[in-house]
Amino acid sequence: MSLTKEQIARYSRQLVLPQVGVAGQKKLLDASVLVIGAGGLGSPAGLYLAAAGVGRLGIMDQDVVSTSNLHRQILHSVSDLGKAKSYSAKTRLASLNPDIEVQAIQERFCAQNAKKQVADYDLVLDGSDNFTTRYLVNDACVIAGVTLVHAGVVHLQGQLMTILPRQSACFRCVFPEPPQAGQIPGCQQAGVLGSAAGVIGTLMAHEALKVLLGLGELLTNRLLIFDGQMSRFREVPLRRDPHCAVCGHRPTIRELVEETGNHCEQNVATTY
Ligand SMILES: [Zn+2]
Repeated sequence: MSLTKEQIARYSRQLVLPQVGVAGQKKLLDASVLVIGAGGLGSPAGLYLAAAGVGRLGIMDQDVVSTSNLHRQILHSVSDLGKAKSYSAKTRLASLNPDIEVQAIQERFCAQNAKKQVADYDLVLDGSDNFTTRYLVNDACVIAGVTLVHAGVVHLQGQLMTILPRQSACFRCVFPEPPQAGQIPGCQQAGVLGSAAGVIGTLMAHEALKVLLGLGELLTNRLLIFDGQMSRFREVPLRRDPHCAVCGHRPTIRELVEETGNHCEQNVATTY
């Protein structure tokens, strides 16, 4: 398959990069990425992946767009208020790049659907906003052997790491147990600066493109931490824990169970 005239024009500024070229662009067009959460992280990540021509994007979110989302969740507009986030995201991404396929998944990522969802994509980006989902996404990706880019943001700070299952440290190797409920406040309680989410979400897309193109040095075995107060990055070296419950030598997590015992209940959006 060769690139069309329209594709050559659209992707011309990255096609000229020796790290991309026609071969790299074809890799992107053939690739699929699942973005969990169409929020502050998933918005910039989804926009850059769509713009770069990642051929199939899944956008998974169970929420509806509300006014308090708009300062950071740049996929959505005032005209989307009350609409299902995954469909709002799909509409925006499809209008940015009709050359790709966008799948709206209006579901909460939960133990029942986790395995099937991650197995359907080459790469997963976790832009979720709670620890239950983060552990579940990590475990699902490790068990399925799907590469994961994990990220989190709160206040003016964010963090990012890439996980190659059973090759590099996973989220559970670094943070074996989830914090107690309420111990670490989320964005709703603690607040977040939209641009800080933009920095981290953009880095997620950047890391995803590196994975798909097979270029550079991935953020494996290191946690990148962004201090938005000082505009500084620092790195914490990581290593796999041989006793990790999911990727260690004798894993105790072989099936997916949610930490809080939640089920797949969700806010069913009535407006698509
Ligand atoms: Zn691990």
